[in-house]
Amino acid sequence: MGRHGLRGVDDLALPELPEVESLRRYLAREGLIGSVFERVTVELKPSPEKGTGAISGIEQLPGRRVGSLQRRGKQIAAVLDQGVLGLHMGMTGRIEVLRPEEPLPRFTRVEFRMRNGNHEIHAALVDPRRWGAVRMFDSLPSAFAGLGPDALDPTLTKEHFAEAVSRRKAPIKPLLLDQSLIAGVGNIYADEALHRVKIAPGRRANRISAGNLHALFGAIRESLDHALAFIMDHPDDRGRPFIVDAHDDRMRLRRVPGSFCPGCEIPLRTKSFGGRTAYYCANCQH
Ligand SMILES: [Zn+2]
Repeated sequence: MGRHGLRGVDDLALPELPEVESLRRYLAREGLIGSVFERVTVELKPSPEKGTGAISGIEQLPGRRVGSLQRRGKQIAAVLDQGVLGLHMGMTGRIEVLRPEEPLPRFTRVEFRMRNGNHEIHAALVDPRRWGAVRMFDSLPSAFAGLGPDALDPTLTKEHFAEAVSRRKAPIKPLLLDQSLIAGVGNIYADEALHRVKIAPGRRANRISAGNLHALFGAIRESLDHALAFIMDHPDDRGRPFIVDAHDDRMRLRRVPGSFCPGCEIPLRTKSFGGRTAYYCANCQH
């Protein structure tokens, strides 16, 4: 157990928007855009039949060229010359581009061999918990079905956000996690943003002023931008995104029992909303 050993299961280093965006940028840097799939091999273990964890349609991949890599919320989609490959990292998934002759990492579920001109790309979806999903879709909208606008989408404004949220009577914390409303706000970033603007996680959304909702939207963006910058500045020794265990270093709130509010230094409280633990300060947040 490291210093993060006490975190609850819902605070595992899940790939959130910043981690997934850093992965998208890494794959672009490694030359995936413009590359053509040559061979795709799936591990022999049976895949979960539906829902998260599914692998389907990839027999269609050989010969297809990647036109672009898109992201909405925590989902990546490779837009192909025909069809769209949806990539969802689940709880523990990541994609590693391997060195020539490098053996497949442990927990590889899918092996991709691709070519971009003379450049061969050998990549692996590594996924210990096997909750990642790799699926073919007809179009980008179907790959991103059910997702609201991305939290960092430049066309999403604080006014849009306030309007969408202020009609709801639910507590603000679970609303922020509702990916159909705004995609990409995860548990730790929601808590961080609420703390920054001193709003309690249990406040009903329709009881929060427009001005405070505008400030909350800004705080969400700041938290996500800050985390993304941190990850981009801390790749591993091979330039890969730092997906694992850095939350405490990029966050103000320390998500461990007994930690203190960074503002007033009283112990943080926790409260569960739909099974996700909120950390908050009962003194600062109302
Ligand atoms: Zn406080």
